[in-house]
Amino acid sequence: MEGLKNIREDAVEYQLRKILPTMPGVCSCEKCRLDMASFALNRLSPQYVRTDAGALYQKLNNSSQQAEVEVLKTVIDAIDTISAHPKHDA
Ligand SMILES: [Zn+2]
Repeated sequence: MEGLKNIREDAVEYQLRKILPTMPGVCSCEKCRLDMASFALNRLSPQYVRTDAGALYQKLNNSSQQAEVEVLKTVIDAIDTISAHPKHDA
């Protein structure tokens, strides 16, 4: 929706970028990254913010350490699951 953004998308993408390079055995192609991101985002509750001037403040205000740990755990789950069954050959 115009004017709204799910900031979980940024959080999941950030964690994937951080974790995948540390796991050389895991395929990090575009397809697998998108599968991992959708797997994680479907399991996390969305967190929508307005994308206008107030959004950054809201984002900072809402991102608790507990939320970060939840995202991290879910992203690791996603990496484990998708890398065990990549949707492409080799
Ligand atoms: Zn792949």
